[in-house]
Amino acid sequence: MGLQEKILVVDTDQGVFKYLSARLAKNGFLMQYASDSLEAIELVKPGSFDIAIVEVDMPEINGVTILKRFKEIDPYLQVLMMGNTGDARQAMGALKYKAADFLVKPFGDFGDIGAAIGRSLKEKRLHMENKALLKELEAANRELSEKVKEKTRELRDLNLLMLDYTEELATVIQGITYLQMSADSRQAVEKIVEGLEKNFRIDKACLLLCEQGNMPVVIGHSSSLGPGLMEFSSEKSMGPVMETVKTGRSLSWTEYAGDWPQGRKVFKEWAIFPMRARNEVLGVLIVNAPDREKLDALRIYINMFTLGLSNLLLFEEVQKNGKELAAKKDELEKANARLRELDALKTNFMNMVVHDIRTPLTSIKAYTDLIIMYKDKPEKTKEQFAQIIKSECGRLETLVNNFLNLEKIESGNVDFVFEPACAQDLLEHFVSVYKAVADARKIKIALDCEKDLPLVGIDKDGIGQVVSNLLSNAMKFTPENGDIRVGARLLDPFVEISVQDNGPGIPGNMLSAVFNKFTQAHRKKVKGGTGLGLAIAKNIIERHGGNIGVESEEGKGSRFYFTLKIHREAEPGTSLK
Ligand code: ADP
Repeated sequence: MGLQEKILVVDTDQGVFKYLSARLAKNGFLMQYASDSLEAIELVKPGSFDIAIVEVDMPEINGVTILKRFKEIDPYLQVLMMGNTGDARQAMGALKYKAADFLVKPFGDFGDIGAAIGRSLKEKRLHMENKALLKELEAANRELSEKVKEKTRELRDLNLLMLDYTEELATVIQGITYLQMSADSRQAVEKIVEGLEKNFRIDKACLLLCEQGNMPVVIGHSSSLGPGLMEFSSEKSMGPVMETVKTGRSLSWTEYAGDWPQGRKVFKEWAIFPMRARNEVLGVLIVNAPDREKLDALRIYINMFTLGLSNLLLFEEVQKNGKELAAKKDELEKANARLRELDALKTNFMNMVVHDIRTPLTSIKAYTDLIIMYKDKPEKTKEQFAQIIKSECGRLETLVNNFLNLEKIESGNVDFVFEPACAQDLLEHFVSVYKAVADARKIKIALDCEKDLPLVGIDKDGIGQVVSNLLSNAMKFTPENGDIRVGARLLDPFVEISVQDNGPGIPGNMLSAVFNKFTQAHRKKVKGGTGLGLAIAKNIIERHGGNIGVESEEGKGSRFYFTLKIHREAEPGTSLK
């Protein structure tokens, strides 16, 4: 007890102070005395004393009032009242105002006083400890309530953020659903851009896709953009775009050091976002003035639709490849069918050639044997046999020549010598050649040429072969007493030559096929032939830059025609391979 605790004694009787000081000071208490009520009240400040011992019966201001005043100034001050036994009423009042104890005068055993002071000090310490605890508690409480406030604020912000993003998240979900359902990437891109305008309030956006290592190309943009697209048309404008593609990081106008093309007329506060999917940058999205508060939602949106879009693009590629494969398969099947057809035709041709060669060979052998066996036969008969042998040799020669001719023309190994020629002279010559055979079969063969036809630029041997082929076909197919008309007319810049007969004609479905190799329209009815004559003629005419064709009606006859270019003076006679 007595660790420099301060005790104030208030009593008009200084003897009381002395008495108490004599006993308490030696125990380490600091003692102070006030003989006057007002003086006492002035001395007491919060925390200035630990204990006050006050006489109940003070003049002017009585002890109980002093006690009240003290408690008002310092509620932790322990106040012990003292008085005579007759002051019991005041003592009661004092206890009511939280006096710590009542010491009865005259003091007898100091032990009682010491005990009372000890109790008061203990109580005071308890009070003080309580006070400290209370302070700590209050501080902890304050901290806690701050934390609660902070968390509440965060929650409120988060709530607001969620509310803010509701629209955007709905757009994301909508966009992804659309992408999943969509089968057309262009349409999907339109929807993406629409979503940006509607829910992110981005007025201008432009979507570019990289195509297999090439520069990104614009595949979608806001409808309002129009001429603004020019900003991405030059190579220079690709600077920031390429940087985004290369780094895979978003870039904005504040970070980019290089020049933006045309002084950023349309995209004033641009930002470029990479569209990443499967470890590669698929393309970029350029937007004008994105809302900074919504950047996170925008990034989620871009990531989600990039994923959807890349799936769609893959799907489209697979489909395209599938289609291409199907088309190639179709082409191959057609080519195969054509090859099989050609193979069949060739086999057919070989059979025919063998047959056609064997027939004259058989008769050549037979007639040669006859000449050898019957040496004594009349010369005339032997000569007849020799004539037959000669004519059969001629047939063989034609056959072989035809075949070799086509091979040569087709492989481009024939040298044509183009020179100006008169169509009429050429036709007159061939009509006269065939006249004798025609007469023998009572076939009328007429030549009808327009007057003053211009010269044509031709290889005479080649065109002679064409005319000869057409005439020999006409002779072959025209019945006795039939009619063959050979004609020439001007169809500027060509001269058209035609050979018309009134033979059996050609079925409609065979009209163009008769110009193919080994194709015969009347194999069953007409013996001989190889199906090569018209194919040779077509080759020769095409090498002349002309056209060959046939008009025919079954049962009425056929009209074969071909055109030859008019010879112009400026065109020198050339030798073409
Ligand atoms: P070939 O006469 O040796 O069979 P071509 O190539 O000259 O070969 O003729 C092909 C086919 O065209 C003939 O087999 C015949 O069916 C048809 N053809 C050609 N000319 C006539 C014609 N003047 N009248 C009717 N059919 C013809």
